[in-house]
Amino acid sequence: MNSKINILLIEDDKSINTFITTSLCGNGYRVITALTGKEGVSLAASLCPDVILLDLGLPDIDGCDVLKQLRSWSSISVIVISARTKEQDKVTALDLGADDYITKPFGTAELMARIRTSLRHSRTAAPDKVYKAAGLEIYFERRMIYVHGEEVHLTHVEYQLLSLLAENSGKVLTYKFIMNSIWGPYMDSNNQILRVNMANIRRKIEKNPAQPQYVFTEIGIGYRMRENENI
Ligand code: CA
Repeated sequence: MNSKINILLIEDDKSINTFITTSLCGNGYRVITALTGKEGVSLAASLCPDVILLDLGLPDIDGCDVLKQLRSWSSISVIVISARTKEQDKVTALDLGADDYITKPFGTAELMARIRTSLRHSRTAAPDKVYKAAGLEIYFERRMIYVHGEEVHLTHVEYQLLSLLAENSGKVLTYKFIMNSIWGPYMDSNNQILRVNMANIRRKIEKNPAQPQYVFTEIGIGYRMRENENI
């Protein structure tokens, strides 16, 4: 079923390269590898892969610059795979348009799950009309929200925020991206207004707001909404 899915792996470390290629091929994906950023960019252009796995520490160009170049002409799913664990590195990559970020070392199961998620996103370019997961239902056209069958009333901003996350479920959205999308680029860069609204949403939809099961905090980075099961 996955036989026609092409994955471009841009990674200079030969042992990681082999490990990832072996596990991807074992799962039925076709893999093309590039050992440098330059090679990666040109293969991306000529082959138009379904997903790109991008290492940040490359010998010729920094992975972030590769990402910038890719994003100037392409919306192919890019999952960053990197040993850089600092929050700022993740935020930078996500702000530059990466779809996801996995920190090395990672296991095969995690990698496969992230690839499936990004493939699902690229195939459902039109926003889903309904979000459903673990008892939470959002009907975008009617702007109605239910938790275990009970209707929940959100303010206008709370609704915009929750639906933005739901439409991108499974993906980390950075604070900056969310602030820009909802309040525009001229808003104060501190995230207080976002945190207050998120706390209100959680009070309304989560059973225990301290241990959320719908909207997860990626500390120092942003929020990730539980994957939509209605796809
Ligand atoms: Ca590297």
